[in-house]
Amino acid sequence: LLWICKQCGFRESVRKYYWRCPKCGAPLDVEYEGSWNPRGKGLARYASSLPVSPTKTLGEGLTPIVKMKINKIKIWFKLEYLNPTGSFKDRGASLSLYFAKKLGYKTAVEDTSGNTGIAVTAYANLYDLKSIIYMPKQAPKGKKNLVKILGGEVIEAPSRAEASKMVLEKIKEPGVFYVAHIWSPLFIEGNKTIAYEAFEQGFKHGVLAVPIGSGGLLLGVYRGYKDLFNWGLVKEIPFILGIQGCSVQPVYTAIYGKPLECGESTLADGIMVSNPPRVKEVVDVIKRYGNIVLVNNDEIIKALKILYKHGLIVEPTSAAVLAGILKALDYGIIDPGDNVLALLTGSGLKTHDILDKFLNSR
Ligand SMILES: [Zn+2]
Repeated sequence: LLWICKQCGFRESVRKYYWRCPKCGAPLDVEYEGSWNPRGKGLARYASSLPVSPTKTLGEGLTPIVKMKINKIKIWFKLEYLNPTGSFKDRGASLSLYFAKKLGYKTAVEDTSGNTGIAVTAYANLYDLKSIIYMPKQAPKGKKNLVKILGGEVIEAPSRAEASKMVLEKIKEPGVFYVAHIWSPLFIEGNKTIAYEAFEQGFKHGVLAVPIGSGGLLLGVYRGYKDLFNWGLVKEIPFILGIQGCSVQPVYTAIYGKPLECGESTLADGIMVSNPPRVKEVVDVIKRYGNIVLVNNDEIIKALKILYKHGLIVEPTSAAVLAGILKALDYGIIDPGDNVLALLTGSGLKTHDILDKFLNSR
C-alpha cells in the first residue's frame, strides 16, 4: 500500500498518515493491487478491492435501490441516506477512522457543514476516539445537534472557510488526526463501494446522476466503475451526470470557462464547496464521460416535493439530484429512454429546521 501524488510524483509506503501530499500540498491517492472477490456483507464484502478493511461496523453499505417512474423517466434511486448516520459519508468515515485507530491516534478532527461531522463522530465512537467538529454557524441546527448528542465536540466557526482555518491550527497538536474528507483518498475509496453495490444490484450501464460538492463521491463511483471495467465486468463506464448548485459552481465554471447566472441554491448546503482540491480530476472525468447541470432553490423544492410524495425522505441537497435529472432531460443531455441511477445521499430527517421555512412559505 503506497501513498502517491499525481502532481509531484511523491511515493511512500503507508506507515504514517498524510491528509495531503507532504511535498507539494496536492491531494494524495493510494496505490494497491485490488481484485474482485465480493464476500459477506457491508463494506467488508469488498475487502479485496479496498486499501484497508475495517474491523468494526455500524451496518454501513448495502443500501437498497428502488425503481420508480418520474415524469416519464425510469429512475433507480440508490438510498444512500439509509446508511447508519443518514448519509453516504459513513463509507469513507468507516475506512478513515479505522485507519486513525490503527495508527494510534486518540483524537479525530474535521471541518464540515454537517453530514461528515455526524459520520466522523459515530465512527470515532466506534473506535474509542475523541471527535472535535468545526462547523460553520449557518450549518443546519439538526446536524449540529446530532454531532453533540453523539458525543462530539462542536466548535462553531463564522463561516465554512473559517472552520477550515481553525482546524489547521488544531492539527499542529500531536496525536490529532485530520479526517479531511474533501482531501482524503480514503473517502474516495469508500465511495467506490457504491459502484460495486450498484453493479451487483443490476446497474451495468446508463446514466449515473451524482451531486458534486468536493467531488469525492463522483470520483469514487467513477473509479469503482473503472475497476469493474478493468476487471471485464462492465462493457463501459456509465454516462456521468454531475449536479452542482447555482450558488457554488466551481466545476461547471472550470468546464464552461465562466459562471452561469441561474439564481440561488442555498438549500443544497451539502454541495457548497467553493474550491474543491480535486477539481481538475473531476473536470477531466466529466469532459470524458458525461456532463454537468446547475440547479437552484426553486428546482430543488420542486424535486423535493416529488421525492417526498414518493416516500423518499431526503435532504434538500439530495433533491438537487432529481432536479438535475429533470433539467438534463429538458436540455436533451439525457434521453427519456435512458436507465438512470440517482444517488440520494442524505436523510431529510436531519434537516427539518431548514425545510420548515421553505415549505411553509410556498
Ligand atoms: Zn505532491
